[in-house]
Amino acid sequence: MSIDGLLRHDLRGRTPYGAPQLDVAVRLNTNENPHPPSPALVQDLAARVAEAARSMNRYPDRDAVGLRSGLAAYLTRSTGQQLGTEQVWAANGSNEILQQLLQAFGGEGRTALGFEPTYSMHHLIAQATATRYVAAARLPDFRLRPEQAASAVRERAPDVVFLCSPNNPTGTALDLEVIEAVYDAAQGLVIVDEAYAEFSRRPSAVSLLPGRERLVVTRTMSKAFAFAAARLGYLAADPAVVDALQLVRLPYHLSVLSQAAALAALAHADELIATVEEVIVQRDRLVEEIAALGLEVVESDANFVLFGRFADQHLTWQGLLDRGVLVRDVGLTGWLRVTAGTKHETSAFLEALAEGMGEVV
Ligand SMILES: *Cc1c(COP(=O)(O)O)cnc(C)c1O
Repeated sequence: MSIDGLLRHDLRGRTPYGAPQLDVAVRLNTNENPHPPSPALVQDLAARVAEAARSMNRYPDRDAVGLRSGLAAYLTRSTGQQLGTEQVWAANGSNEILQQLLQAFGGEGRTALGFEPTYSMHHLIAQATATRYVAAARLPDFRLRPEQAASAVRERAPDVVFLCSPNNPTGTALDLEVIEAVYDAAQGLVIVDEAYAEFSRRPSAVSLLPGRERLVVTRTMSKAFAFAAARLGYLAADPAVVDALQLVRLPYHLSVLSQAAALAALAHADELIATVEEVIVQRDRLVEEIAALGLEVVESDANFVLFGRFADQHLTWQGLLDRGVLVRDVGLTGWLRVTAGTKHETSAFLEALAEGMGEVV
């Protein structure tokens, strides 16, 4: 039998996640922080990795206790909410965190709900874990209001709800009232994906954790921390959620190299987070200058901006690529998403857009 015939029925005909990785001068398509690590961080990281290499013959700390306590301290410092090691879990990127959550709380016969348009991996990870995915709608301005979001959750009664704040690809952040209303309406787990929290003007859902044992907040070092290649994501939740994930995680999932690298990043957190201010300046500049070109721009609390609307967004995408600028076509009719880059990259994008925007609707 062919491989296609052997594949799980529910995976046949699916397409994998595939943001293009093209060799282009200005890459503004995957929401990375454009500022590379400082020489001091590179040196510290190399020293910690060398130290870890001395015991490479042994398996790493399976529970990554040192790293989790460092992450708990970072979250406590940045949100003002006291968190302990037992409330924090870490994995290879927040995508692995999300996968572990659905392995434990989703799966065959269970349903996850997301508010579209949103991060495509929520849907894809649901599919990969055989969790049924149902899409609820956002308002035309891409926002969610407490009553509207709560009633969608009450109606579908999902086992898992995905909220994303700030939301990818729209940049829209949620007011805490929306999260509280969804939590009260839900019977299952409520996951708030805060991959872009450090760029946001709104408070973190971490402050809502006390007394809400079904609430999970996921974070990543891939965006504000400028550490995408290291693959480090984490969550904050009730210790019972962290215990449940031990049942599905692979033993020794987080290599000693990843743990050492992430501890180096945490030791330099202030310096890394300082780049966020520069990125925010470029994001706000994007909003202002794209609007000045006569286009629509969605208000953004993240490090990217959704803009349009184009008669054929793929033609505009190609027009920008022809001018050496890679942005993201997220498959949303009329719209494109651009990441805030360095000042220089952002200028290059704005010039390319003015020349090559194509037909607007
Ligand atoms: C980029 C992104 C992530 C990060 O994924 P990692 O696996 O941590 O790199 C998670 N959620 C959203 C919404 C994102 O945009």
